[in-house]
Amino acid sequence: MKVMVRSRRHRVNKVGLLCLILVAVTVFVIGIFWVYQEVKVAEKQQSTNEIIRVADARLDEIEAKKKEPVYITLPGTDKLRAPAENYEDPTNVWTLVNKAKALPAGYVPPELMAASVSTRANSTADEKRVRQTIDTPLTQLFAAAQKEGHSLMIGSAYRSATTQEQLFNTYVSRVGYAEADKYSAHPGHSEHQTGLAVDISTISQQCYLSECFIGTADGQWLAENAHKHGFTLRYPKGKEAITGYNFEPWHYRYVGIDLATALYLSRLTLDEAWPYMETALATLRSNRAVK
Ligand SMILES: [Zn+2]
Repeated sequence: MKVMVRSRRHRVNKVGLLCLILVAVTVFVIGIFWVYQEVKVAEKQQSTNEIIRVADARLDEIEAKKKEPVYITLPGTDKLRAPAENYEDPTNVWTLVNKAKALPAGYVPPELMAASVSTRANSTADEKRVRQTIDTPLTQLFAAAQKEGHSLMIGSAYRSATTQEQLFNTYVSRVGYAEADKYSAHPGHSEHQTGLAVDISTISQQCYLSECFIGTADGQWLAENAHKHGFTLRYPKGKEAITGYNFEPWHYRYVGIDLATALYLSRLTLDEAWPYMETALATLRSNRAVK
């Protein structure tokens, strides 16, 4: 009897021990599983943070590159910061229009307005118009001239492609194609169509649209001072082979003070400076500062 009771107690102890072991193992397994899950979550969080960090760093890099200054240095001048703009756009004040580079078909510049300065009395309404962008610089140029005793006026400013075509054909019928080509632009190739160019004259119209204008006090003053207000003498003497036009001491084109000054100091035409501007534009594009 005593032996039977001992054996049953022994069995109960054994079952209890087994249960305890089972509970301990279960707790251990759950514990391991919990730790494993926590490690996984932490790892996942870490890799997400890493991806966000790398992406942020890349975005910062892109933003910094966009703001990186790009310079143009024309021979004999100080470096000039290239604006982060598309100079190939016909509305841009640095746009190049010449015998080889035309404006888009039917291009009409934005914000044309009647110029605030004096204009030739018998010019057409169109010829009195300029891009709004150049109205204030033009007013300042004429005011500076007036201060030094030079009374200027616009002989002719904006010209549509149609007007340019009529003008070119008139010149051709008068002097023949080859001769007309030396002083008149083909439609779509005239700077006058940009609204950024002006033919300047004295009020008295002395040497009007003639080479002798450079010999007048007004013509001289313009050649030496126009750049200070953002205008460049577009077809200078000695550059005929580059511009394709005869010397035109009356034709000025607005490009902004910085570029006009660099062109004045380097004695380069806009056509000659264009490769420098294109290089700057390519850099700005690769920096994603310009599309
Ligand atoms: Zn002109």
